[in-house]
Amino acid sequence: MYKLIDGKKLAQEIRAEVKQKVAEYSRNSGREIGLAVVLVGEDPASKVYVRNKIKACEEVGIKSFAYYLDKDTAQARVEELIRSLSVDNKIDGILVQLPLPPHLDEKKILEIIPDKKDVDGFSASNTGKLSKNEPCLVACTPNGIMKMFESENISLTGKNAVVIGRSNIVGKPMAMLLTNANATVTLCHSKTANLKEVCARADVLVAAIGKPKFVTADMVKEGAVVIDVGMDRDENGKLCGDVDFENVKEKCSYITPVPGGVGPMTIAMLMYNTYLSAARS
Ligand code: NAP
Repeated sequence: MYKLIDGKKLAQEIRAEVKQKVAEYSRNSGREIGLAVVLVGEDPASKVYVRNKIKACEEVGIKSFAYYLDKDTAQARVEELIRSLSVDNKIDGILVQLPLPPHLDEKKILEIIPDKKDVDGFSASNTGKLSKNEPCLVACTPNGIMKMFESENISLTGKNAVVIGRSNIVGKPMAMLLTNANATVTLCHSKTANLKEVCARADVLVAAIGKPKFVTADMVKEGAVVIDVGMDRDENGKLCGDVDFENVKEKCSYITPVPGGVGPMTIAMLMYNTYLSAARS
């Protein structure tokens, strides 16, 4: 019998904890914690994400500063905004909602964000520190997944962990976190040979691919812990994950649902990172 890891409930608990820490920080320092959220363009999904992040800020007592820029905004204007936020002492964290419109140089824009305000944990310095297992701001989605393991007392030491997907925002930092937690990690991607066999050996399987119901029951070992990062649409346009949940769940010891799994954890960890970046400076 599998156990569902309830990301919605855990995220609520983390937000409540962050709310307390934020209140204590504000009492002691006499200042509010501020998060700048920059959205360029009109992408409907990005607008929803930004709205949810602003709502979460309100809930935990972080002041949000939203910057909505026109889809045609020039590179120089975006850079100028990020530079001014970088030196603004009301701002503890800067989040640029991705993806940016194609005419913008995403890498260059993200590089301007100072490490200590990089609440997404995407900077070269933060990812470098993560690879060295040093304290840093960690990418929110994989960090949220680590909290899920922790909350269920799932030990990772000596486990075979397989991550499918090597993106900079999910797959790679996930592989590093699992390595730091003493798992033996295989990081898979679209060129991986014998993917099914590799996955079927995993004690812990993390799917971050972006393809609906890609992970089928024959790819999952009996008793595996399966974490579904995907936020996809099925053939009827319904939200689903990268894992064929209905057919996979019975083989698992633990599995995350979509929705209500990894998604809410990402925003909770963003709140946590924003608190951390204020508390550490
Ligand atoms: P991404 O940048 O598009 O990367 C997808 C990865 O999957 C790539 O490394 C790609 O391999 C790999 N891949 C694609 N097809 C494959 C195949 N047939 N076999 C093996 N690997 C394959 O995606 P992402 O940004 O990491 O996001 C992945 C999913 O997670 C999406 O559904 C996204 O919406 C979701 N997501 C959810 C959250 C959340 O908070 N829940 C946060 C972020 C992302 P190559 O590198 O070889 O191309």
